[in-house]
Amino acid sequence: MGCSVAGMSESFRANKALGQHFLISEKAIRTIAEAIPQGQSAIEIGPGPGAITTSVLARVGHLTIIEKDDRFAEYWQDKTNIYNHLSVVHGDVLEVLESAVQQAQPDWIVGNLPYNISGPLTAQLASFSLTGGMILMYQREVGQRIVAESGSKIYGGLSVLVRHFYSPKRLITLPPGAFNPPPKVHSMVIQLLPHGNTPDCAYADLQTTVRQGFAHRRKTIFNQFRGELTQDDFISVNIDPQKRPEQLDYADWVKITLLRKGTVKIQHD
Ligand code: SAM
Repeated sequence: MGCSVAGMSESFRANKALGQHFLISEKAIRTIAEAIPQGQSAIEIGPGPGAITTSVLARVGHLTIIEKDDRFAEYWQDKTNIYNHLSVVHGDVLEVLESAVQQAQPDWIVGNLPYNISGPLTAQLASFSLTGGMILMYQREVGQRIVAESGSKIYGGLSVLVRHFYSPKRLITLPPGAFNPPPKVHSMVIQLLPHGNTPDCAYADLQTTVRQGFAHRRKTIFNQFRGELTQDDFISVNIDPQKRPEQLDYADWVKITLLRKGTVKIQHD
């Protein structure tokens, strides 16, 4: 399906394999762009033909875009002649994100994310402590998992990881008709704002713990870490070892991570 965007002379065919569903809802575009304060710097993941990009470019001091599709990377590279506050990174975001963030040092990350990689991409995104935050579009079910609180059936690893540096909040939910071509699912825009209260615990260690802890959702937390931590270890940090992973909140996961790292002293008899 072709897609024409205001200000863009070319028509691009959406590539399903790259999760291309182009945003056409003006309300959604405004909501995303206006969440970024004027004059700050940002990275946009997957600009495509630029529904969000054009509005963001009008606000920010500098924008770096990361795009895998050769056609869009080339299109935006040509635009750097007009926009001298635009940089283009042509590549797979999962491979280039780390170096792009190191180089650009953005205040914000924004994007209508390709849904097929949104899980691993979010686990990577959540490792960056940005001063501004992130405005990210997800398939609705993934967005619901990210904002879910402990105790909920859909609470999982991503719900924990995003809370290391950020407080997640749903901004808007969008129907399939907000995109061209329309996806089969609803979408959700999630805002991640820094809470400034991150404990002294390395993100990579938290991620390893969460991955292992949620490997079998029906097992008790004691059984997930059997052989490594005792029942008493859990009790010493006020965690009931019989709880299931989805019953533990972010602070509990940090405690388990620190127990595993030996940062919290374990008193064995
Ligand atoms: N931002 C545009 C919009 O809102 O209309 C396009 C969003 S579309 C859902 C996802 C975009 O991410 C596409 O431009 C696609 O080419 C790009 N993309 C898909 N996989 C990618 C990857 N692994 N790395 C970088 N960009 C990717």
